Amino acid sequence: MSEKIVSLEDIVSLAKRRGFVFGSSEIYGGYAGVYDYGPYGVELANNLKNAWWKYMVQQRQDIVGLDSGIFMHPEIWKASGHVGGFSDPLAECNNCHTRIRADHTLEELGEQADEKMSTEQLNNLFDKHRTEIKCPNCGKKEFGEVKNFNLLVKSNLGNFSDDMDDNPVYLRGETCQGIYVNFPNVVDSSRVKVPFGIAQIGKAFRNEISPRQFIFRTREFEQMEMQYFTNPETELEEFEKLRQYRWNFYKTIGIREENMQWHKHENLVFYAKEAYDIEYKYPFGFKELEGVHARGDYDLGAHQKGSGKDLTYFDPTGNTRYLPHVIESSVGLNRMFLAVLSDAYTVETLANGESRTVLKLHPSLAPIKFAVSPLLRNKPELVAKAHEVYDMLSKNYMCEFDDNGNIGKRYRRQDEIGTPKCITIDFQTLEDGTVTVRDRDTTEQTRTKIENIAG
Ligand code: ATP
Repeated sequence: MSEKIVSLEDIVSLAKRRGFVFGSSEIYGGYAGVYDYGPYGVELANNLKNAWWKYMVQQRQDIVGLDSGIFMHPEIWKASGHVGGFSDPLAECNNCHTRIRADHTLEELGEQADEKMSTEQLNNLFDKHRTEIKCPNCGKKEFGEVKNFNLLVKSNLGNFSDDMDDNPVYLRGETCQGIYVNFPNVVDSSRVKVPFGIAQIGKAFRNEISPRQFIFRTREFEQMEMQYFTNPETELEEFEKLRQYRWNFYKTIGIREENMQWHKHENLVFYAKEAYDIEYKYPFGFKELEGVHARGDYDLGAHQKGSGKDLTYFDPTGNTRYLPHVIESSVGLNRMFLAVLSDAYTVETLANGESRTVLKLHPSLAPIKFAVSPLLRNKPELVAKAHEVYDMLSKNYMCEFDDNGNIGKRYRRQDEIGTPKCITIDFQTLEDGTVTVRDRDTTEQTRTKIENIAG
């Protein structure tokens, strides 16, 4: 069996054809930067969230969960620095007004344009390349100066005046602010002791100027974040543990290690102690999947100042009081989804020369665990038995009842959605209670007693 290199188009096409991911509002011509997750997509997304939650909360005595609101007091985003500084550097085409990310464009031209650069420095670099930078829309090379554009999405929640910009309330740009502001609530109401973490999964919104690469960069996305509060003295020690722990997570969900790498941030923002990204080798190259950062006391410090409330922690072990330092793990569910699909997508040429597309998902992530079929759909006794097996398995597993008469087609479909096992009920089943179990990866078929199907 040989394998072919996967392209982003292959993945987008399978995702749509098989009901994993749809473009938003398609019948209205589409809506940029938002995607909808179809019947198999929502299963895969839920399985990823469950795997993350189990690993980050259930299996950790020192981490608890949280679900904070999408809307929060607008002062939170001022205190955190987002109102003033959460921005992307953009340049606008003077001809057609298309805006581009100046930093991304410069990186594509081989320059190092990082987040620490001032607008003036970016403008100088941009000027150096001005004659090469073509508008992706109209093709003219007439960009204006680079300006910062804030990424926060505004709403008029609770605002009944006509002016939307009058005291805007923001849709959260990241989930972790909800964690920081609940730090004192969690300390006061649960038995946690520093070092401990708070984990949260939820939607976040950013006015990305150029949403692209399918679900990699979108305006509405879901984050899975864990903020770990440490004694300042052990911050970096805990950080190394968290880095290792997060790397190992991807192994537990079956991501191939050779497709992952660490990227160390060389130019750190002023408060950061260390910052690394886990990058995944997407079909468009190695790109940030997750950030693991040591953030010092910046976050609690900012909210202590912004709210005027004391957020220090009394540590009974050393009889000391301090502002905990934060280390964080932050990953986009959608980026993880795309990494998992890219890693699992396989096209094999079989010994007989035919090719098959198979999603070799880790079984725990597969949207459907068992496809159950009667050998013939016009034999009521086989159909009834197949329903019985379906009812038994579906109590514990996501199953699909598939009575498409053509077995070849059925297997092809189940391979493409990554179903680990296909169960067929035939005449022998009625006699001895055994079924045929066909394995997705080996394509081998074995006979198994019904009660042993789930192993
Ligand atoms: P990038 O540099 O790619 O814009 P970032 O460094 O701004 O990302 P963070 O603010 O650190 O990202 O967000 C943490 C995580 O949230 C990222 O590692 C990524 O997985 C996810 N994420 C951020 N922005 C988006 C987006 N627009 N679409 C999907 N996921 C995102």
